[in-house]
Amino acid sequence: MIRFGACAFGLVLLLPAFPALAGDPATAIRLRDQALADPTAYGILESLTSEIGPRPAGSPAAMRARDWAVAKMTALGFTNVHVEAFAKRAWLRDAESAQIVAPTPQPLVVLGLGNSVSTPPQGITAEVVVLKTLDALKAAPDGAFKGKIVVVNQPMTRTQDESGYSAAVAARGAPSEAARTGALAYLTRSISTSTARAPHTGGTRYAGDGPKIPAGALGVPDADMLEHLAAQGPVRIHLNLQSHLVDATAWTISGDVTGSATPDQIVVVGGHIDSWDPGTGAIDDGAGVAISAAAARLIGILPRHPARTIRVVFWGSEETGGSGAAYLEAHKSELGKIVLAGESDLGSDNIYMLEMPEGALDKPQLKELPAILAPLKIMSSKTPARDGGADVEAIHRAGVPVLALHQDASRYFDYHHSADDTLAIVDPVQLRQNVAAWAATLYMVADSDVNFRAGK
Ligand SMILES: [Zn+2]
Repeated sequence: MIRFGACAFGLVLLLPAFPALAGDPATAIRLRDQALADPTAYGILESLTSEIGPRPAGSPAAMRARDWAVAKMTALGFTNVHVEAFAKRAWLRDAESAQIVAPTPQPLVVLGLGNSVSTPPQGITAEVVVLKTLDALKAAPDGAFKGKIVVVNQPMTRTQDESGYSAAVAARGAPSEAARTGALAYLTRSISTSTARAPHTGGTRYAGDGPKIPAGALGVPDADMLEHLAAQGPVRIHLNLQSHLVDATAWTISGDVTGSATPDQIVVVGGHIDSWDPGTGAIDDGAGVAISAAAARLIGILPRHPARTIRVVFWGSEETGGSGAAYLEAHKSELGKIVLAGESDLGSDNIYMLEMPEGALDKPQLKELPAILAPLKIMSSKTPARDGGADVEAIHRAGVPVLALHQDASRYFDYHHSADDTLAIVDPVQLRQNVAAWAATLYMVADSDVNFRAGK
């Protein structure tokens, strides 16, 4: 019976009803295991963080990062390497400082938030009001803190996924709430799980037509210290935040592993090459650049490329916005060709869960994928992917299906957007686990004919 079964299986392979295109699981397993010993991603990350350093969109370093990316993609063997330019209004940091002036002078460590207006050149000196939660600020009556500097000291919960961050990050976008109460400036406790003194920056925004007041982030210990002192009596601080806006050009860079059978069907994957300025953008998001490029390179050196094209994209302005919308604008006439998209943008620690478009893992072409990823301690979720990353959100809303390989974010918010986002915090073993997961997944997806738009 077994021999008959084997014989019947051999015949089934020849029948047209069998999927026309399905990746060979043995090849995916080989890619996975090869990636676990491949130093390419770490080398890319070392090169980007040490040779370019911080690279905010609109800065001179962003132009050097563009040229680095073109040279790196070409050296890695990608084809159709090109640059897509777009205009943006860029916010760039200038000199910043903060000190307690009374009751006892001592320095504070501060970072302005992206998009913040500047203080007057001489800075602002005022008494602080420290609130334990953002809700306390929202509940304060109009004019309640006239002439004060409002500090919101709401802590962030450490979680494996992004939920701790999602719950806390609204405090970074609240300068208009503080302005409503008559405040002269707004400071938030860093959206961070660390007790390090280095502050964490990030973008802020202003609501409506209300007054715009300067906004910054304090390191966690400094925010706690202000709360402690303010409970004892009036505390006055001096705050000076300077920045400027420029009309700039930003660049998204991409390169292909050209498909061998259906090259017009494209899987888009990547990370964002821009970063905040205090660190060197290693985990946010040099890692995503390195992981996606290293995974696609391994597939590119196979004797036969997968059927579909894999397009590696280094988006050029995620942190201060713009690259996702620019990508949609540049590719809106050919969105139908993009069969699936995803972005690696939550650091470099282990991936623990795969999410695919609805029904994709039930397809015969992909049913082996969970078992290929399982030895990497990656679960395959039954929940369909809803979010493929900030830079693919715009094309996702326009109809492109997305996948997500969720990374362990437990450590990520100790460092992200701070001076400590450097190569020193990257674990090379976990970085390679990411490359292994992406290489195996991309290969199986790209060497298939699954229509991810079909659903169910
Ligand atoms: Zn990022």
